[in-house]
Amino acid sequence: MQIRFLGAAGEVTGSQHLCEGTVAGEARRFLVDCGLFQGGRDAREKNERPFTFDPASLDFVVLTHAHLDHSGLLPRLCAAGFSGPIYTTPATRELLKILLPDSAHLQQADRERAERRQAKGRWRGELPEVLYGQEEVQACLAQVRTFDYGLTFQPVPGILMRFHDAGHILGSAIAAIDVAVDQVSPPKTRRLVFSGDLGHAGCPLTPPPELVASADVLVIESTYGDRLHKTMDQTRDELVEVVGHTLRHGGNIVIPAFAVGRTQEVLLLLAQLVREKRLPHLNVFIDSPMATAVTQLTAHFRDALEEDAQEMLAWHEAHPEALRLKLVSDVEESKALNQIRGGAIIVSASGMCEGGRVLHHLVNNLPYRQNAVIITGFQAHGTTGRMLVEKARTVRLFGQEVPVNASVHTLGGLSAHADQGGLLAWLKGFAAAPGQVFVVHGEPEASARLAEVMHERLGWKHVALPERGVAYPC
Ligand SMILES: [Zn+2]
Repeated sequence: MQIRFLGAAGEVTGSQHLCEGTVAGEARRFLVDCGLFQGGRDAREKNERPFTFDPASLDFVVLTHAHLDHSGLLPRLCAAGFSGPIYTTPATRELLKILLPDSAHLQQADRERAERRQAKGRWRGELPEVLYGQEEVQACLAQVRTFDYGLTFQPVPGILMRFHDAGHILGSAIAAIDVAVDQVSPPKTRRLVFSGDLGHAGCPLTPPPELVASADVLVIESTYGDRLHKTMDQTRDELVEVVGHTLRHGGNIVIPAFAVGRTQEVLLLLAQLVREKRLPHLNVFIDSPMATAVTQLTAHFRDALEEDAQEMLAWHEAHPEALRLKLVSDVEESKALNQIRGGAIIVSASGMCEGGRVLHHLVNNLPYRQNAVIITGFQAHGTTGRMLVEKARTVRLFGQEVPVNASVHTLGGLSAHADQGGLLAWLKGFAAAPGQVFVVHGEPEASARLAEVMHERLGWKHVALPERGVAYPC
């Protein structure tokens, strides 16, 4: 077998791992994840590049979870000739039905915006390509096949696989793939384990990532391989401080949040703090159609949540007045929020402030000192969110420089990703060192640091930082 990392190698987005080899006498080829590159100018160029392999030659695709940096190029893969099954979990399929149509819609909107600017002579260079439309999305969704956690299934003869709960977002999975390799005699099974994105054990919404006891080859994410999150208690204290202070001074609070996971986590924390009487009754607006849909879906899959989260949901249903939740659907309602001068908590996407309705809320709220922005997630290089975190004095939104006078706070404890301690705790679940470890899905410093600590603390010797496009025997 060999594996080529075609994305998320030396960077955080664009997960795409190609595995190839002879299995049970047949040449086999499968892909694990097929995600969009996100953030920065070269992301667009990478997304628009043709696949470096023939999509029609894939036997199947494995999808670890629904986030677009893992799933967002799937419709393009199918349109380019891949007609086989896409294996994932049932909750992931439901999330894909929300995320992929939205992704197609955003691409179309970006294109149209660029065309309008080009017509006014205000666009230089190539127009952004629409990678796929709604038809391609529907065709792709029809190829999805689902299996619950813990079930073993056989995608092709000689390969058995199973999903474990990764605790990252609803439906997120670690994929354990047992491959009967032919080249050795007698044929031997090699277990490839792809961590996908691993959840944060302190996350109030999802359970901690399930441990896996053995792997011959391990591919592990390293988003936060070089740091430790603040504790959940610190995070709660900070939230009380910022929300309490801002509301007392008549300001609004804008919380850019990923529609999937983070929005629901923020809601859960706020409701908890109101229940504990650490915050007054709140007016919360969820201004993102996608976040609204996912919030409803999360309630539907509530059995998959942490027990405390299930209990909080029941409490909120009994006490809706404690946290008056307004799910904003149409654009007019969204615009009406611009008139609110204080007292509102607006949770909106996109989480990295790279598009979506949150941009309007930033334009309206950033210039005023009494307001606050709470950053709740990872912000990739080159994104507006990252600039806010790095205390930019102005940010460019809709072609204008917007002064940043509102206070900007970063809540470190709310990550959907395990930190270095969490990654190590998960790695300790292996009974023995995997024969080969590949560290992916991190900025170079984060991946390198995780590789170092695996060496220092676990004594694991075969840890590599793969380069994009290079074939590694495994
Ligand atoms: Zn993810």
